[in-house]
Amino acid sequence: MDRIEFTKEMKKDYTILVPDMLTIHFKMICTIFRNEGYNLEILYNGGKDVVDSGLKYVHNDTCYPALLVIGQFLDALNSGKYDVNKTALIIMQTGGGCRASNYIHLLRKALLKAGYSQVPVISLNLTSLEKNSGFKITLPIIKKSLSAISYGDLLMQIKNQVKPYEVQSGMTDQLVTKWQNKLCNDFKDNKSLSLSQMKSNFKEIINSFSKIAVNKVQKIKVGIVGEIYVKYSSLGNNNLEDFLLSQNCEYMIPGLLEFILFKIDNRLDDIKLYGGNKLKFSAINALFEYIRKIEVICIKTIENSNFVPPSYYLHKKSLVNGLIGYGNRMGEGWLLPADMLELCEQGYNNIICAQPFGCLPTHIVGKAMIRPIKERFPTANIITIDYDPGASRVNQENRIKLMLAIATEQIPSNQPIKTKEEKSPNGLLPIASVL
Ligand code: SF4
Repeated sequence: MDRIEFTKEMKKDYTILVPDMLTIHFKMICTIFRNEGYNLEILYNGGKDVVDSGLKYVHNDTCYPALLVIGQFLDALNSGKYDVNKTALIIMQTGGGCRASNYIHLLRKALLKAGYSQVPVISLNLTSLEKNSGFKITLPIIKKSLSAISYGDLLMQIKNQVKPYEVQSGMTDQLVTKWQNKLCNDFKDNKSLSLSQMKSNFKEIINSFSKIAVNKVQKIKVGIVGEIYVKYSSLGNNNLEDFLLSQNCEYMIPGLLEFILFKIDNRLDDIKLYGGNKLKFSAINALFEYIRKIEVICIKTIENSNFVPPSYYLHKKSLVNGLIGYGNRMGEGWLLPADMLELCEQGYNNIICAQPFGCLPTHIVGKAMIRPIKERFPTANIITIDYDPGASRVNQENRIKLMLAIATEQIPSNQPIKTKEEKSPNGLLPIASVL
């Protein structure tokens, strides 16, 4: 069956459904697309109906992220909330060798079986895998989306360092929402998108979070790594972040920008190794360098505060030198052990590696890397947690509790590497100095 193209006419009055993954980021990215005339709506539906819809229309040995995303789409179409003759779906196609490049075909097959063959599916990809006359990723959209992702990474990483310690519950989330709304409004007027505006906004964001009053209490510091969907999505990981908060933990999750740098870097290596168009190489390299400029601005701004900054992409890359080959690129590839090593360097040495059950790449670059990482960082306390429709949440949480019990015994050695003595503007000790 021929695929249904998303046409220019459809752009005018179709709603395009987007599965949620990174709540802070996606709201801002969708604003960028809405400004370009696309009526995007993020899906937050979850629960048993979503899993059951996935299981009904996708084979149960399919990657869990695909099963959930397809289940979420079908559950939304079945809900009666959308006119199924004026609704389109959007799904990422990574273009790499992993199964994520093929989710789109599984989705179309599921739509056909469920009686929604008229619903167009848009492929979000940067590798010209599929084209639609009504949906174009232009250079301005890419640049603006990168700004939105950078703000998302910063808000997520600072929020994660404040929320577990806030004196007044809810203050951190309120501030995140305030910044999201402000930035979305700015984007509508094409503001807050240039490097210089980002620099000044980054500073303001950090200042505003450092004014939140925090409690001087010791918490277990946990890092979350793993397959991109189950690492970030609360639907995919059974609300892992809320669970960690309830267990007296502070958690750190690496941002999205480093994953984009990883993907672009791989593309550059391909051209270097196997040849390719020189103009294409220059364009991809320019994009790589542009993102690294954003990275420098962001990290330097955080370095001048009391918060723990992420590491530079190239530093992360150097961490796995001698541990795993750079040719390991399926799924998260060598970036996954690099994330674990970075977290150990930063003092988040209690690590949860979230992996979909049966995900070969994360078993190789995640689970199989635990022993060599422990040889470098003997205090690394790493567990892998499998996520799939059959895995019991209680079992997952019990395994995490076991890891936290070991962490509690090690607390004296869990001190962060970077500490600062300055007082925060609110007179209370800054977060980094009280842990
Ligand atoms: S990384 Fe794992 S879960 Fe994701 S597409 Fe590849 S095999 Fe599936």
